[in-house]
Amino acid sequence: MHEFTIAKEIVMHLNEFKKQQDRLKIIGLNIELGEFTFANEEQIKFWIKELLKDSHKTKLKIAIKRIKPVVHCNKCGYSGNVKFSADPVYHFLLPDLRCKKCNSKRIDLIKGRECNLKSVKVEKLAKKRMGLL
Ligand SMILES: [Zn+2]
Repeated sequence: MHEFTIAKEIVMHLNEFKKQQDRLKIIGLNIELGEFTFANEEQIKFWIKELLKDSHKTKLKIAIKRIKPVVHCNKCGYSGNVKFSADPVYHFLLPDLRCKKCNSKRIDLIKGRECNLKSVKVEKLAKKRMGLL
């Protein structure tokens, strides 16, 4: 239910946004997803659409950009990418991360666990037509 939790968080933000923007409909979402969330993109998209009780939901386009993990080593000062295997067990357990340079385990994950709603694309709802029809 990891993906569900992520989707719920995003939809919560969207609902807040919709409250403030009366005559707009949401047509697109840009999401950044850290690879260290080990979340399934298709499932996130599915849950967002499910949770958005919106008559326009079928038109909604969701783009998910993967963010590569970046670590910082507290021992040697290395900062950069890290190797890990995408084992399904990491849905529940964080992989044993080590510094690429000195093999220390004293590393911090700087990037890679985020799930950010980067931008929302909206469309103005059609106003009543004036004039001849
Ligand atoms: Zn190191």
